[in-house]
Amino acid sequence: MDGVLVHEAQPIPGADRFLASITAAGLGYLVLTNNSMFTARDLQARLRGSGLDIPAERIWTSALATAKFLDLQRPGGTAYVAGEAGLTTALHEIGYVLTDRSPDYFVLGETRTYSFETITRAIRLVRDGARFIATNPDPTGPSTEGLLPATGSVAAMITKATGIDPYYVGKPNPLMMRTGLNRLSAHSETTVMIGDRMDTDVIAGLEAGMDTVLVLSGITARADIERYPFRPTAVVGSVADIQVGQDVRTLTTTTP
Ligand SMILES: [Mg+2]
Repeated sequence: MDGVLVHEAQPIPGADRFLASITAAGLGYLVLTNNSMFTARDLQARLRGSGLDIPAERIWTSALATAKFLDLQRPGGTAYVAGEAGLTTALHEIGYVLTDRSPDYFVLGETRTYSFETITRAIRLVRDGARFIATNPDPTGPSTEGLLPATGSVAAMITKATGIDPYYVGKPNPLMMRTGLNRLSAHSETTVMIGDRMDTDVIAGLEAGMDTVLVLSGITARADIERYPFRPTAVVGSVADIQVGQDVRTLTTTTP
């Protein structure tokens, strides 16, 4: 989502036409984000505010992927959650009970309101055997005032206190791609991952067996690509350079 369709609440030029062309071609798509703060409906409203009309059921967050994972692993379980509505709603929807009394899991998501009390409780629960899950490993996130500590940084604090690492469900874990593909009833060989980050989007798509397209409309510059031990299938300036129906391997960009 960020850096591909929108950039700080502004739509990437041509993103609306690109999405319309996918739909017009009769193809399915999902918009992925590692941000676990918001529900799909919240994000739908935010995207609409940015001029992009995307149905809520086409939005796949790390919170939804985490809920799907827990539903498959331990249906009807219990969890103590540090996170916001995106995560708590997703867990409620799979029938999880949110509790701080001997939960099966401690689930950490993105939030702007961590308290010392919540972190203390989480540390004690994990030490007492609650399995440690986190929605996404991102150490920092963007804001208009500058970077913010994100889920990965808070997870590091809990890991330091417990000696236990979380299992991260969001990108770059290809599980996020796998659950998304299942949701689309799609196959990796006929699905393309489009992203703006080498270390999350491209690697996750690659490891899930998909072709990948790196767009330069987000965080990555062309010169950064060579530093990675893997490559995207194609590199384009933005989604506006992608023709639906064209072989990904023949994509070229008009942007330098
Ligand atoms: Mg991005």
